[in-house]
Amino acid sequence: MSIFTKIISGEIPSYKIAENNQFYAFLDINPNAKGHTLVVPKREVNKLFELDSKEYSDLMAYARKIAIALEKAIPCKRIGMAVIGLEVPHAHVHLIPLQAMEDIQFNKKVTLKPEEFEQLAKLIAAEL
Ligand code: 5GP
Repeated sequence: MSIFTKIISGEIPSYKIAENNQFYAFLDINPNAKGHTLVVPKREVNKLFELDSKEYSDLMAYARKIAIALEKAIPCKRIGMAVIGLEVPHAHVHLIPLQAMEDIQFNKKVTLKPEEFEQLAKLIAAEL
């Protein structure tokens, strides 16, 4: 069972932004930038491009909704999207509020307090 499946089931806590029957969106615990969000299909599939075409399209549509809310909630130039998956073998997309290219390079991280994560998740959810 992946760490994201444990997050989705509530076994591991997360700063949730939103969910529906297919997808779960929450803050990345080691963010590149404030508001760095992960959007994950509840069905555990290893690689993003292994999703069937319908589930892939649905995920993109859901990620788009979250990205629009994210851009309203977090001051940034735009929302970047990245697909990596080298750390967690459960398909997901990263949505990252960008000010500069380095925000999507996964080598500069920001440290946030629990209350800051909570506040960010609420702020983003309120824009949905
Ligand atoms: P990737 O698999 O795309 O290389 O990276 C996985 C991402 O998941 C990383 O950015 C990492 O910080 C995030 N991550 C890993 N474990 C957890 C966790 O337990 N909770 C949360 N919120 N994020 C996690």
